[in-house]
Amino acid sequence: MDAEFFRAWIAEIAAVVEAQRDHLTQLDSAIGDADHGINLARGFSAVQAALAAADTPTPGSVLLLTGSTLISKVGGASGPLYGTAFRRAAKTLGDKPEVDLQGLAAALTAALEGVKKLGAATEGEKTMVDALSPAVVAFSAAVADGADAPVALAALTDAADTGARDTIEMQARKGRASYLGPRSVGHEDPGAASSALILHALRDVAARQAR
Ligand code: ADP
Ligand code: MG
Repeated sequence: MDAEFFRAWIAEIAAVVEAQRDHLTQLDSAIGDADHGINLARGFSAVQAALAAADTPTPGSVLLLTGSTLISKVGGASGPLYGTAFRRAAKTLGDKPEVDLQGLAAALTAALEGVKKLGAATEGEKTMVDALSPAVVAFSAAVADGADAPVALAALTDAADTGARDTIEMQARKGRASYLGPRSVGHEDPGAASSALILHALRDVAARQAR
């Protein structure tokens, strides 16, 4: 996977987030302030503009610009959290021109750690961590077992989907939704839903390029 692959991933995220903007905002209207879809659509559209205007010759440079732009352009909690995730992934990739599955697993693990640290969040608190964490664990395990890209990426997205769905029954302990206490139960966490979309975009771009 080269810089072009990572630019295609980010473009796919921008398209999916735009298409799912109202859905994500609806999820956030149930347990938050109804801006998650708006935040991410604005953020990734700014990222697309930044990538179009800059030279990003390596995967790391693509993800670094993505993360920095999200941090500077998204007002909600999700901007700094996703921004940190992309920046941590970028640091892990360094200036390598190509990334293999092991490298991607390491980058995604670092991204998850960045989110957990910045958000002071752990699994079971009804946040994006509940989609990202099982996904990264399943992907890393598949890669360690020698799985090829389609199998490892299917493990990634299946675990993200299950993780996002599992947030429905959780009570929010972090972020705005936590103010609702027990009333936060019964709704999918918007950040967990968007994390699953972001990982689906990765799988879809890889599937397209393999054809
Ligand atoms: P805001 O909550 O500021 O309006 P968004 O609506 O864009 O920001 O994003 C909300 C999402 O951010 C939540 O659904 C949750 O997944 C995630 N989130 C909020 N706080 C935290 C945290 N401390 N740790 C991890 N994720 C968090
Ligand atoms: Mg919100």
